[in-house]
Amino acid sequence: MAKILSGKDLAQTMREEMKTELAELKEKHNLVPTLAVVLVGDDPASLSYVKGKEKACAEVGIEVRKFKFEADYAEGSLLKLIAELNTDPDVNGILVQLPLPDQINEEKVLYAIDPEKDVDGFHPINVGRLMIGAPGYVPGTPHGIQKMLSRNNIEISGKHVVIVGRSNIVGKPLALLLIQKNKEANATVTICHTGTKNIGEITKLADILVVAAGRPHTVNAGMVKPGAVVIDVGVNRVEDATKKSGFRLIGDVEFDEVSEKASAISPVPGGVGPMTITMLLHNVIRAAKKQSGIKD
Ligand code: NAP
Repeated sequence: MAKILSGKDLAQTMREEMKTELAELKEKHNLVPTLAVVLVGDDPASLSYVKGKEKACAEVGIEVRKFKFEADYAEGSLLKLIAELNTDPDVNGILVQLPLPDQINEEKVLYAIDPEKDVDGFHPINVGRLMIGAPGYVPGTPHGIQKMLSRNNIEISGKHVVIVGRSNIVGKPLALLLIQKNKEANATVTICHTGTKNIGEITKLADILVVAAGRPHTVNAGMVKPGAVVIDVGVNRVEDATKKSGFRLIGDVEFDEVSEKASAISPVPGGVGPMTITMLLHNVIRAAKKQSGIKD
């Protein structure tokens, strides 16, 4: 039976470490990192993500300034707000919850955020920095996956990592992160997507298999090498009449059968999700320190 890689437990440990660091920052430098969170509309998933982020910030001692607008909020007003937040010295990080309503061009908004306050790591400047291995802000999900591996003493260097999914927020940045020449990376990376032929033959070569397809049952035991490490990023809602909500969350991997074959596996829920938020907190703290001239 595989070791369960609990993102929930690791996130808790890392948040305790952050709490200590933030208490010190407050005492020595009178610094309380501040995150501006912008939410437009009433999408239930977005509301719940924002609530989770606010709770996590409060838990470690990051201040949140929340800006919530109706679904018909104008693009121009949002761009004006971002310009103000960019120059506000009391705001260290800016997070615009996606998706945005149709009248707002998402790209325009994300590109308007000052890259030094882009704690989601979606601005092309930060994507470019990741590409060339320069310091910048890395998106929370890939960064959280890297930490989940390294903090569980799973060697990445020299391993073959196969990633299923090539999105700009998971697959591509994870590949860029893990091919860097440093001890928490240095992997050989293969990316699969819907254009990949014989995907099971490729996933079977993975020492570390990361599945971020957003489709339940994408990976079964027959597609996994014995002893592989499997990270399930997918979050899918399936109907479940036994739950009060009427649904439950499952990943992209057939957990029961794959956990019989893998050496380690992350669960859904309680796996990558809590790590994603933890790395957002990490970015806010780094941004605040950098903007205040405090060494990391
Ligand atoms: P996305 O933008 O929809 O991208 C999915 C990727 O998977 C695409 O590149 C797609 O290929 C590929 N794909 C889909 N089905 C496939 C299949 N059967 N075989 C091979 N490749 C396949 O999704 P995303 O934003 O990356 O998110 C992926 C999943 O992770 C979702 O369930 C999402 O909810 C979850 N997620 C979780 C967290 C977290 O913190 N836990 C964070 C982010 C995302 P094409 O490019 O060819 O279409």
